Amino acid sequence: MPKIDALLNNAPCGFLSFIDDGTVVIVNATLLALLGYEPDELWGRKIESILPIASRIFYQTHFFPMLKMHGKVEEIYFSLKSKQGINIPVLVNAVRRESAGSFVNDCIFIPIHQRIQYEDEILKAKKAAEAAIRAQQEAELALRQQYERTLFLKQITHNIRQSLNSQEIFDTAAYQIGLLFQVDRCLIHSYTDMPTPGLTIVAEYLSSEQTSLMKWEIPVIGNAHAEKMMAEDQVLASPDVFADPLLKAVAPLCEKIGLKSMLAVRTSYQGKPNGAICLQQCDRFRNWEDWEIDLLQRLSNQLSIAIQQSNLYSQLQLELRERQRAEQIIRQQADREILLRKITQRIHQSLDLDDIFDIASVGICQCLKAERVGIFKFHPDSNFHMGEFIAETVGTGFDSAMGTIIQDHCFAEKYVTFYQQGRIQAIADIYQAGLQKCHRDILVQFQIRANLVAPLLKLGDLWGLLCVHQCSAPRYWQEFEIDFVQQIANQLAIAIQQADLFEKLQKELVERKQAEAKLRETNEELAAATRLLEKLVNTDGLTQIANRRCFNHRLEQEWLRLYREQQPLSLLLFDVDYFKRYNDHYGHQLGDECLTKLSQAAQQVVCRPADLVARYGGEEFVVILPNTDVEGAIAVAQNIHAAIQSLAIPHQASEVSNIVTISLGISTMIPTSELSVVALIEQADQALYRAKKQGRNQSITFINN
Ligand code: GH3
Ligand code: MG
Ligand code: MG
Repeated sequence: MPKIDALLNNAPCGFLSFIDDGTVVIVNATLLALLGYEPDELWGRKIESILPIASRIFYQTHFFPMLKMHGKVEEIYFSLKSKQGINIPVLVNAVRRESAGSFVNDCIFIPIHQRIQYEDEILKAKKAAEAAIRAQQEAELALRQQYERTLFLKQITHNIRQSLNSQEIFDTAAYQIGLLFQVDRCLIHSYTDMPTPGLTIVAEYLSSEQTSLMKWEIPVIGNAHAEKMMAEDQVLASPDVFADPLLKAVAPLCEKIGLKSMLAVRTSYQGKPNGAICLQQCDRFRNWEDWEIDLLQRLSNQLSIAIQQSNLYSQLQLELRERQRAEQIIRQQADREILLRKITQRIHQSLDLDDIFDIASVGICQCLKAERVGIFKFHPDSNFHMGEFIAETVGTGFDSAMGTIIQDHCFAEKYVTFYQQGRIQAIADIYQAGLQKCHRDILVQFQIRANLVAPLLKLGDLWGLLCVHQCSAPRYWQEFEIDFVQQIANQLAIAIQQADLFEKLQKELVERKQAEAKLRETNEELAAATRLLEKLVNTDGLTQIANRRCFNHRLEQEWLRLYREQQPLSLLLFDVDYFKRYNDHYGHQLGDECLTKLSQAAQQVVCRPADLVARYGGEEFVVILPNTDVEGAIAVAQNIHAAIQSLAIPHQASEVSNIVTISLGISTMIPTSELSVVALIEQADQALYRAKKQGRNQSITFINN
């Protein structure tokens, strides 16, 4: 027996150490005394020997395994067996330590002497503790259920919010809610109050035994339950539908569908009901619990939101589709306007009708998705009985109508007046339009099923027709299409008229050009005649030099010009000497010839462009010498004398020579405002008179004295 501390032996609690096989290695005096053993009596014995049977089992199954596992056990109730076989309750604390390679387990035993006394209270405390544990467990369960419900709510909400398709939302909601509540039926209703309040089932969940209620209309009017449900956002719980006064009126219906319990609530948006959720139990009466009622309330709120979103979405979709349609219409409208502008422009740029017709027919075909567009022209003078297509655009798979001469007498009788009034004809289906057979036959010949025909009028006269054909099927022509074709027909009519006008203008132009050429010819002749006349008027018939008239006119002009310039103007006046005698001697004929020769000789002497030699009358001649002073004039006079002398025309009868001579008077003036040409002529005449007087065949210059 190892020595133990005196302190340990005297401790108020029992102490014992044992090794892992249960052999007691240390035991203090306090424990030995408690159990009634002699010192050293327990040393080397197994611990089981001081344990009553119950404690022994506890030791083996709990105490020792726990000690081994955790290294210690604390405050364990335990009983020890005294040497006399009495059970002594104790409280045990034990620790496990390693000593020289093996384990030692040290235990302290505190005897519980007053246990009996407190047993009742312990029992009570135990019961209270058990109740507390139960309450806690229940609370935990409730919490878990709450959590699960929240989770469900979240899950269902998530599922029904997944979709924007209302049917999908309804189906998901019915299925998930039905499963969650484990009911026999879960119905989702839609509600409308137009024209009368009505509930329609839009989705249904069924447990396997139940029959479907789909397609059932649930009455609202006269159904107090439905009326109340639709009036407020509150769950209506009916544990027993036959005991619920609200359901009295529909009791037969409940019976028919095997309904026992029902939980129902409306769905709504902004206080306006739009549907309902209805949970039905058929296999038993079901007492709806508060959490169930609460959950359904929340679910109805979620479903309401989902329905609203779906409605908003479909409305948006609808708006989007409408907007797309509007955009398409605008685009088509723009296409038509572009074509109209193109045709109008082309009409302004071109006079080529074929070109314009081509653009129009291709454009209409594209814009209206027509199967044939043609320009039909009546043969002039056929009185609208005959005509043909002169331009055409035709879709693949349909025959061309070009070039075929069409004879239609019915048309002439029936439609000419109609079209001449500018009216357009739209036929959706030639078989339904009440057409005359002969006319319809012609349309059938060209596979026409529907047509749109606008007159092409030239100044109020029916020139032809703009025809739009649908061959594959009837076609209901839209107002904008009719309008469009009408507008193009108007433009084409302008083009036709313009082309016609152009042709006429071309013809007129040619005629006018011919007339102009003729006129030009006549004008030239006239001008020549005028020139001749002018020449004749100003020319002396005998000598072909300027005459007296010409002289007068020119002298006046020069007078005025030289007056402005203040330059000298000279005048020579000469007269043939003894010309009467010449005539008498040689005859008038030779006299005339002589005069002609003299005048031409004088003409040749005078060289400046402004100078003028003229016949003044009889055998008198005059020479105008502008910008010529008296010396210049004298020089010209000498030259004339010389020229005449060199002519040497014989004159036997002359008294001054044997050839023809002249006498000449010279006058020179710078024109003044006081004087006139008369003075100049007067002076020349006076000088000539003196030359005659002084012996002829000479020149005399007028001198003022
Ligand atoms: P003087 O020397 O004084 O001039 O004598 P003159 O005979 O020439 O004068 P007068 O006036 O007496 O005669 C002019 C003549 O000129 C008269 C007329 O027979 C002649 N005479 C005038 N004009 C023409 C004419 O055109 N042809 C011809 N052959 N003679 C004309
Ligand atoms: Mg004379
Ligand atoms: Mg004379």
